[in-house]
Amino acid sequence: MRPTTKGVFPAVLTETFADEATQPFWDAALDNRLGAPKCTKCGTFRIPLTPFCFNCQTREIEWIQLPGTGSVYSFTIVRHPLSPGLQLAVPCASGIVELDGTQGSGARMIVNIIECDVDALRIGDKVEIVFEHLAESESKMSVPRFRPIRQK
Ligand SMILES: [Zn+2]
Repeated sequence: MRPTTKGVFPAVLTETFADEATQPFWDAALDNRLGAPKCTKCGTFRIPLTPFCFNCQTREIEWIQLPGTGSVYSFTIVRHPLSPGLQLAVPCASGIVELDGTQGSGARMIVNIIECDVDALRIGDKVEIVFEHLAESESKMSVPRFRPIRQK
């Protein structure tokens, strides 16, 4: 298990796993890309992947690559460690990020927002995806997280 880092919820506790349907997402994540399932009929993004489109009931999807940026739609700050092992991880931000490139369909991901001042985080803040590569994991997974886009 990795040492706990302030503001980073340990990936080992998220029970991340891939299956046949979600493998394209995890394959892209290993390559630092955000893959997303999109309905081939109506264009609705299905994140998380669903057996059929909630808009038009079509089963078919295509996997496309999103830019990996977005904005904070909502968030909460976890300040209380649920176990003594999480003492160093709190406070951490758990947020809903509205993804850029989803053409107004409002596709969102629930993620840990890292590398931020949790007291300064605001709805609407621009964020970018980063992948934590679990090198020690036998399954070779990469866990997506978002961080604020720094002003240059
Ligand atoms: Zn559809």
